[in-house]
Amino acid sequence: MIKVFEDFDITLVGHYQSVLESNDIATFMKNQFGTSGAGELPFVEVIPQLWVLNEADAGRAIALIKELSDPESGEQAQAWVCPKCGEPQEAAFTHCWKCSSPRPGNGS
Ligand SMILES: [Zn+2]
Repeated sequence: MIKVFEDFDITLVGHYQSVLESNDIATFMKNQFGTSGAGELPFVEVIPQLWVLNEADAGRAIALIKELSDPESGEQAQAWVCPKCGEPQEAAFTHCWKCSSPRPGNGS
Protein backbone atom coordinates (compact mmCIF):
# COMPACT_ATOMS: atom_id res chain seq x y z
CA MET A 1 0.00 0.00 0.00
CA ILE A 2 1.08 3.55 -0.66
CA LYS A 3 -0.11 6.64 1.14
CA VAL A 4 -1.17 9.20 -1.44
CA PHE A 5 -2.87 11.85 0.66
CA GLU A 6 -3.54 12.99 4.19
CA ASP A 7 -5.47 15.90 5.61
CA PHE A 8 -7.14 16.87 8.86
CA ASP A 9 -10.29 17.45 6.84
CA ILE A 10 -11.96 14.04 6.83
CA THR A 11 -14.52 15.31 4.32
CA LEU A 12 -11.78 16.13 1.85
CA VAL A 13 -10.04 12.79 2.31
CA GLY A 14 -13.37 11.03 1.85
CA HIS A 15 -14.05 13.05 -1.26
CA TYR A 16 -10.72 12.08 -2.80
CA GLN A 17 -11.32 8.49 -1.85
CA SER A 18 -14.64 8.41 -3.67
CA VAL A 19 -13.06 10.03 -6.73
CA LEU A 20 -10.25 7.47 -6.81
CA GLU A 21 -12.70 4.63 -6.29
CA SER A 22 -14.81 5.88 -9.16
CA ASN A 23 -11.63 5.72 -11.28
CA ASP A 24 -11.22 2.02 -10.42
CA ILE A 25 -8.46 2.65 -7.93
CA ALA A 26 -8.75 0.53 -4.81
CA THR A 27 -8.21 2.67 -1.72
CA PHE A 28 -8.08 2.37 2.01
CA MET A 29 -8.60 5.13 4.55
CA LYS A 30 -6.62 5.09 7.77
CA ASN A 31 -7.70 6.94 10.90
CA GLN A 32 -11.13 7.30 9.37
CA PHE A 33 -12.73 7.48 12.78
CA GLY A 34 -9.81 9.10 14.52
CA THR A 35 -11.34 12.55 14.62
CA SER A 36 -14.43 11.54 16.58
CA GLY A 37 -13.96 11.27 20.31
CA ALA A 38 -10.20 11.51 20.10
CA GLY A 39 -9.94 14.65 22.16
CA GLU A 40 -7.02 13.40 24.22
CA LEU A 41 -4.83 12.38 21.32
CA PRO A 42 -2.45 14.70 19.54
CA PHE A 43 -3.72 15.59 16.10
CA VAL A 44 -0.82 13.95 14.36
CA GLU A 45 -2.03 10.57 15.62
CA VAL A 46 -5.45 10.87 14.06
CA ILE A 47 -4.92 12.64 10.76
CA PRO A 48 -7.02 10.78 8.19
CA GLN A 49 -4.88 9.19 5.50
CA LEU A 50 -5.76 7.91 2.06
CA TRP A 51 -3.85 4.84 0.90
CA VAL A 52 -3.82 3.12 -2.48
CA LEU A 53 -3.81 -0.65 -2.32
CA ASN A 54 -1.95 -1.30 -5.57
CA GLU A 55 1.33 0.45 -6.12
CA ALA A 56 0.63 0.45 -9.84
CA ASP A 57 -2.28 2.83 -9.24
CA ALA A 58 -0.36 5.27 -7.06
CA GLY A 59 0.90 7.49 -9.86
CA ARG A 60 -2.58 7.87 -11.31
CA ALA A 61 -4.06 8.47 -7.87
CA ILE A 62 -1.55 11.22 -7.08
CA ALA A 63 -2.22 12.85 -10.44
CA LEU A 64 -5.97 12.81 -9.78
CA ILE A 65 -5.52 14.32 -6.34
CA LYS A 66 -3.25 16.99 -7.71
CA GLU A 67 -5.90 17.80 -10.29
CA LEU A 68 -8.58 18.01 -7.62
CA SER A 69 -6.58 20.18 -5.26
CA ASP A 70 -6.20 23.10 -7.63
CA PRO A 71 -6.14 26.60 -6.14
CA GLU A 72 -9.85 27.08 -6.82
CA SER A 73 -10.60 24.56 -4.10
CA GLY A 74 -9.07 26.85 -1.51
CA GLU A 75 -7.18 23.96 0.03
CA GLN A 76 -3.76 25.23 -0.90
CA ALA A 77 -2.32 28.47 0.34
CA GLN A 78 -1.52 30.64 -2.63
CA ALA A 79 -0.80 34.27 -3.01
CA TRP A 80 -3.78 36.19 -4.37
CA VAL A 81 -4.79 39.62 -5.56
CA CYS A 82 -7.61 41.63 -4.06
CA PRO A 83 -10.42 41.89 -6.63
CA LYS A 84 -11.57 45.19 -5.17
CA CYS A 85 -8.42 47.28 -4.87
CA GLY A 86 -5.91 45.16 -6.79
CA GLU A 87 -3.41 44.81 -3.97
CA PRO A 88 -1.30 41.64 -3.99
CA GLN A 89 -1.89 39.55 -0.86
CA GLU A 90 0.12 37.04 1.12
CA ALA A 91 -1.14 33.46 0.92
CA ALA A 92 -2.02 33.40 4.60
CA PHE A 93 -4.35 36.40 4.41
CA THR A 94 -8.06 35.68 4.31
CA HIS A 95 -8.94 39.34 3.87
CA CYS A 96 -7.29 42.19 2.01
CA TRP A 97 -4.92 44.00 4.37
CA LYS A 98 -5.77 47.26 2.67
CA CYS A 99 -9.53 47.34 2.13
CA SER A 100 -10.62 44.28 4.17
CA SER A 101 -12.38 42.63 1.24
CA PRO A 102 -12.71 38.90 1.82
CA ARG A 103 -10.52 36.56 -0.17
CA PRO A 104 -12.52 35.33 -3.17
CA GLY A 105 -13.24 31.69 -3.83
CA ASN A 106 -12.17 30.20 -0.52
CA GLY A 107 -15.41 28.26 -0.31
CA SER A 108 -15.66 28.26 3.46
ZN1 LIG B 1 -8.39 45.27 -1.23
